[in-house]
Amino acid sequence: MKAAVWFGEDKLEIKEVPMPQIGDEEALLRVRAAGVCATDYHIISGKLKIGKAPNIQGHEICGEVVQINSRRTDIPVGQRCVVATSLGCGYCDACREGKAYLCNDSSEIGYYPHNGGYAEYVKVPVSAIVPISDSVSDKAGAILESTVCPTESLMRLGVPFAGSVVIAGTGPAGLAFLMVARLMGADKLIVLVRDEKSTKRAFAYGATHVVNVKTSVDPVAEVSMITDGKKADVVIEATGAKPMIESMPDYVKKGGNIILYGIPGDNDQICFPVTKMIVEEISVHGAVGNTKAWYPLAKVIESGKLDLESLVTHEFSIDNINEAFDLFRKKDPTLIKAIIKF
Ligand SMILES: [Zn+2]
Ligand SMILES: [Zn+2]
Repeated sequence: MKAAVWFGEDKLEIKEVPMPQIGDEEALLRVRAAGVCATDYHIISGKLKIGKAPNIQGHEICGEVVQINSRRTDIPVGQRCVVATSLGCGYCDACREGKAYLCNDSSEIGYYPHNGGYAEYVKVPVSAIVPISDSVSDKAGAILESTVCPTESLMRLGVPFAGSVVIAGTGPAGLAFLMVARLMGADKLIVLVRDEKSTKRAFAYGATHVVNVKTSVDPVAEVSMITDGKKADVVIEATGAKPMIESMPDYVKKGGNIILYGIPGDNDQICFPVTKMIVEEISVHGAVGNTKAWYPLAKVIESGKLDLESLVTHEFSIDNINEAFDLFRKKDPTLIKAIIKF
């Protein structure tokens, strides 16, 4: 089969490799589409030291079952599916609580030593298969994974009905937070931006207000005004930029929640106003979870309430996968999400 094999720093080559052989409780999927993730770019380019080469990456997978070896009888050959890629040991506290991503022995399909979806076929544990209906497109399926973590953190904390949400970031995660918070019943969806392109994008994906933190004289006062002096119930950071992260406590109401999703630089020291956060009972939550939102997301996409497909701005064949990563290299402003289509 054809696969994009990563051989180390900036070396991603199309190769013929042997078909994966499945064992007990495993399935072979024909990959229909795979999302191209910034994390993969950082690994492939050598910036993020995760895993080892050679490896086939790709952890955002939409596929079709072509072979299955399981006691489970409800997944027929031909079933279209997405893949819940987090794997844990299955028996530690974190795994028993349904948080395999916090397992000390966690791993993920698409990261060494597990080959992923930048290939014509991929082997997955049957337990990772999340069936999708035929009305869910391959495109939407391929990027479902990138929406799972934002969705899961909002499911965990809740968005108050008719409440206010501030979101920093208009990349795929920021827009996913925006769309899901809207679906969960938020009334004011305020996106913090730094330029005109992001302003347009935020409004296109459902923002009710946009505050430009670069040009505004007082962005915090603007958010206060929009929220009738209360500030936001939930504040979400999806840029990873140090000044933006440090400003998050300014936008949240007393007793409110901050979700941190964007990862700062290794040497960034983040300062938070701890006294204010204590006396105003402001809570901070890291978001990395990706086990519980799969089925709910598959449902809302199927019912047409969430248009994930609209996040896909670029499509490539596996032969041209390096062009997809060039979009990151060039910081292409038109990129939201790219997929590899088979
Ligand atoms: Zn990803
Ligand atoms: Zn475990």
